[in-house]
Amino acid sequence: MRRIQMDRPIVEIDGDEMARVMWGWVKEKLILPYVDLKAEYYDLHVKVRDETDDQITVRAAEAVKRLGVGVKCATITPDAERVKEYNLKRAWRSPNATIREALDGTLFRAPVILRNVVPAVRFWKKPIVVARHAYGDIYSGVGVRFEEPGEAELVYRSISGKEVRVKLPKLEGPGVIQAYHNIDESIRSFARASLRYGLINMLDVWFGAKDTISKIYDARFKEIFQEVYETEFKDEFEKAGLRYEYYLIDDAYARAVRSEGGFVWATKNFDGDVISDLVASAFGGSLALMTSELFSPQGYYLSEAAHGTVRRHYYRWLKGEKTSTNPVGIIFAWTRGLRERGRRDGNRELVVFAETLEEAVKHTIEEDKVMTQDVAKVAEPPVNAIVTTEEFIEAVKRNLDKLLEKRIR
Ligand code: NAP
Ligand code: MG
Repeated sequence: MRRIQMDRPIVEIDGDEMARVMWGWVKEKLILPYVDLKAEYYDLHVKVRDETDDQITVRAAEAVKRLGVGVKCATITPDAERVKEYNLKRAWRSPNATIREALDGTLFRAPVILRNVVPAVRFWKKPIVVARHAYGDIYSGVGVRFEEPGEAELVYRSISGKEVRVKLPKLEGPGVIQAYHNIDESIRSFARASLRYGLINMLDVWFGAKDTISKIYDARFKEIFQEVYETEFKDEFEKAGLRYEYYLIDDAYARAVRSEGGFVWATKNFDGDVISDLVASAFGGSLALMTSELFSPQGYYLSEAAHGTVRRHYYRWLKGEKTSTNPVGIIFAWTRGLRERGRRDGNRELVVFAETLEEAVKHTIEEDKVMTQDVAKVAEPPVNAIVTTEEFIEAVKRNLDKLLEKRIR
């Protein structure tokens, strides 16, 4: 069989533990036989990061900037326990944080919708994609705990020496204070990324905040979103029949539950933290049925699975046990990356291949009712077979071959 050619390479970022094992299997069985893969390979195995003083991570991020599109396997973020386990020089920082920072990206998390995995919210038919702002709010906030009645003031001093002071309400007795900030440019990048994602994927975009109460902070977010929408996206949205809507955050929650899904929900940092976990579990509950894509306003793109390295399964696999770890998140990391490469290069064959592979995965679970144990736990009966990771990949491959036969010839 003739393999699909690629015009430009993608960046392939390998990772750790069970995710790494599955990464290899998926690549060998579901990608390489069909695609003449052009990839620049970066091995972010925790030992390689250690040997290179984490420079490999920096180089991988630079490669994504250079080539535009990357796919990433889950990686260990070392803590004290991991430093001991892998005999590391130190607890290197999270590769995801390093890469996200370098790319200035926004993370989009979306569920893989399957007919036999019914969402907890019965109206939901289409994915809700949560776009989480990755800067500011309480994550870089500061706090004070006070013991006596007193007063507090927020002072802003500019580099040219201008000062603005605002008083807090009178403080009666012991209590706590918190202050946090954001930056216009970061909010603007976030708005752009969210709106662009909606446009590319033909989804409406919602942004929710509480500008009626937070008249400066949240109001600034609302203002910037509106401005970016009107100056950069309105025409294209209208042409595509899409909508951008601002809702008060409580209204957004209520509407989301009544909706049938099918939109991008852009959230402030904290809201996204909470909403992404809520939406993920309400859509079915398996972390492996989530995709995670990073878009930056400069056009850099990275896809990965939403789950981690699946450590517990890895230890069992090391002992020679066959595990039923779900490779769907990893397969979708590959398909989304290849699809993005294909779209950018005008390579229709590659786009069709990526979409067909996703269809083959769905067919395996929905029609054949063959699945890994995590999906079997949440799927509607009947379940025909609960299989190991390798058996699942084989089943997907059989469906892929059938679908490609129909489609390409
Ligand atoms: P995890 O890999 O997300 O797995 C947690 C649990 O979720 C697993 O033990 C398993 O439950 C279930 N699970 C997750 N993915 C699954 C899959 N594909 N198939 C079946 N079940 C799945 O988190 P972890 O094992 O606690 O963390 C391991 C390492 O991952 C950590 O070192 C962390 O730093 C790293 N991490 C990396 C990323 C990333 O690179 N994007 C993200 C998160 C965590 P059962 O054991 O009950 O079956
Ligand atoms: Mg969270």
